[in-house]
Amino acid sequence: MTTPPLTSHILSVALDVPLDRAFDYLHHGTTVLVGQRVVVPFAGRRLVGVVMTIQQHSDIPLDKLKSVIQVLDDVVLDKQIQPLLKFCADYYHYPFGQLLISTLPLRLRQIKPAVSRKSFEYHLIKSVPETRIEKRQLVLQRIVDALSQHEILTEHELSALSSSWRKWLQPLIDEGYVEATEVIAVKPSVPASANPPVLNAEQSAAIETVLAARDTFKPWLLYGITGSGKTEVYIQLLAAILADKNAQALVLVPEINLTPQLEARFRSRLSQYPLVTLHSNLSESERLQNWLAAKSGAAKIVIGTRLSVFTPMPNLKLLIIDEEHDGSYKQQDGMRYHARDVAMVRAKQLNIPIVLGSATPSLETWYNATASHHKKQSYGLITLTQRAVTDAALPNIRCIDIAKSPVENGLSPLLIEAIRNRLANQQQSLLFINRRGYAPVLHCAACQWHASCMRCSAKLVVHLSQRRLKCHHCGHEQKIPMQCPSCGNADIKPVGQATQRLSQTLAHLFPDARIARVDRDSMRSKDALTAMLSKVHAGEIDILVGTQMLAKGHDFPNLTLVGVIDTDNALYSPDFRASERLFSQLMQVSGRAGRGKMAGEVLIQTSFPDHDLFHALRAQDYAEFANALLQERIAMQFPPSRFFVLLKAESNDFQQVLQFLTMAANSARQLRQDVLVYDPVRPQMERLKSMERGHVLLQAEKRQSLQQLLSAWVPELRAHRLASKIRWVLDIDPLEF
Ligand code: ADP
Ligand code: ZN
Ligand code: ZN
Repeated sequence: MTTPPLTSHILSVALDVPLDRAFDYLHHGTTVLVGQRVVVPFAGRRLVGVVMTIQQHSDIPLDKLKSVIQVLDDVVLDKQIQPLLKFCADYYHYPFGQLLISTLPLRLRQIKPAVSRKSFEYHLIKSVPETRIEKRQLVLQRIVDALSQHEILTEHELSALSSSWRKWLQPLIDEGYVEATEVIAVKPSVPASANPPVLNAEQSAAIETVLAARDTFKPWLLYGITGSGKTEVYIQLLAAILADKNAQALVLVPEINLTPQLEARFRSRLSQYPLVTLHSNLSESERLQNWLAAKSGAAKIVIGTRLSVFTPMPNLKLLIIDEEHDGSYKQQDGMRYHARDVAMVRAKQLNIPIVLGSATPSLETWYNATASHHKKQSYGLITLTQRAVTDAALPNIRCIDIAKSPVENGLSPLLIEAIRNRLANQQQSLLFINRRGYAPVLHCAACQWHASCMRCSAKLVVHLSQRRLKCHHCGHEQKIPMQCPSCGNADIKPVGQATQRLSQTLAHLFPDARIARVDRDSMRSKDALTAMLSKVHAGEIDILVGTQMLAKGHDFPNLTLVGVIDTDNALYSPDFRASERLFSQLMQVSGRAGRGKMAGEVLIQTSFPDHDLFHALRAQDYAEFANALLQERIAMQFPPSRFFVLLKAESNDFQQVLQFLTMAANSARQLRQDVLVYDPVRPQMERLKSMERGHVLLQAEKRQSLQQLLSAWVPELRAHRLASKIRWVLDIDPLEF
């Protein structure tokens, strides 16, 4: 241990490097705070780091210590978030420094002072005498007039007056006529709505229940079908919590760009509370500004996607996870965390309530909220049993047995009839098919050849309008061949249905109908979906064809028919969560029908109308379905009754993958008796982007057993000679394998 001269300190700095420790640097002069950003030399590069501790000693000899290059202004890590990051680094076995840096807005990860372009509003504090404005200064005149007519002018409004407004305004500020105030949080962009609905008894009870335990850690499952008024409960609950001065709340949503209506609703109903959003559609400067507003406490409400679970909020009093079952809460690269699980830990650390809302809760949450399967029921269950708007009836869900009513070009006569009927009555229809492109397969009937990706174990999807074949997994593209590459047959055909083909078929059947397609191909741009949704609202669309992009949260009062095409694969998929996901998708898309005064109808084309899933769906009884599925999972010893860890490895040389995984499995077996270690296997997608893949699954009754195993196992894996030759990752609590 060495001690530096008195005026210097040793800073222990967290860095974005794949090593599980902090690094010591010498620093002289200016005061530095824990959590502050610094620039340091590392392996010949300069890196941004965050000061973790300031100490007088280091285990490294003083003359070996490098010095801090630069101290940046911002303190980016606070006391509240640190334990959460620490927990995640431990639980997910991910280097703390990498995790910490990855939770920061991009601007704070760069080696330069992060200037958040602050935004200001301007108002007049004393009137500007006419003599101050010269005859030809028309712009100045306009600005002064506008300032005296309006209480406040935003930068946006000033820009509309003249692009040179800054030049004219600055002297007025300097001379004390105008005052500038910083706008911290984004203001509501929609007018405040005056009349909140009167809550029904179940909704009021829900809010009272949560508020009664508002100062303790308590998870609540708010379970209610689409339209049962969950969002209304969030809003009024937020209003109650935020009435406490300073209080902040965090609302997590799956994908904000799919639900523009939700944000607008929060803004208009809670307009007195500064609200910011955090998601990938923001510019980097917006993201920085919003993040800083949350961190300073100025923003009272943060609505964000999964990464925002790490947003520093000094006075966080409530966490809400909307659509808690949604798969997008799980991060699929870097640290593979589940935002719902992280949120749960955060609520526990802060001792605050957390509300999980869903019409079709994840089986994990269902398990925790229903006592019958469990020694102790750890979540409170709050149920909303009916649609909040009393005249909005539940849609009538039926299956069309395609053995009896065979499909032609993907559509059965019964479904075609139902669409025709809607068109005749000026009502809208939605056809749900979860596959984009023209057709999923290009097939040769002569030799059974089909087009597949050279780099992945996947078929190439036909995109007819561009005359291309595309791999939806790696992005590979090629021309559609003129003849079968295998036998020369010229008659090769697209087989199966996807959004483009279905739209085309509908256009032939209903030449006068206005048909729109909503999928990732047609909705490339940021605002395309919003624009399309307003067209649907304005009644300018008769038939919508779309993927799950359409399933979420949109409210179309004139839409009375939902047709579901081709979901049978998921009924018998090898993925153990496939039916859980299918149920929730179908429930969600069914919720689009009949949200107005007219009753809705949902028609599902299937070869298996008697499947349990459809029974429960027709009865709109998620509980029945979930309980049955849960019994199955318990019997199979699958999550949520057991916990999984997946070690995934890939390389262009499968032998190396296999060697590494075999070693890993053997060593895991030595470590603990109470963890079941499966042999290495190949996943369903054996090859992806030219990488040969394999994995080893670990299974245990207790998280604790897995965690203890991992603590000894991970260092062994890291030290293995193949560890740096192949790619490998750990997925703790994997969603699929
Ligand atoms: P969910 O989030 O469960 O889908 P919402 O909160 O969006 O449900 O409510 C569905 C519709 O019912 C919305 O239009 C909402 O404004 C309305 N609503 C909710 N609660 C009430 C209520 N108590 N009285 C009248 N309308 C309500
Ligand atoms: Zn052929
Ligand atoms: Zn591919």
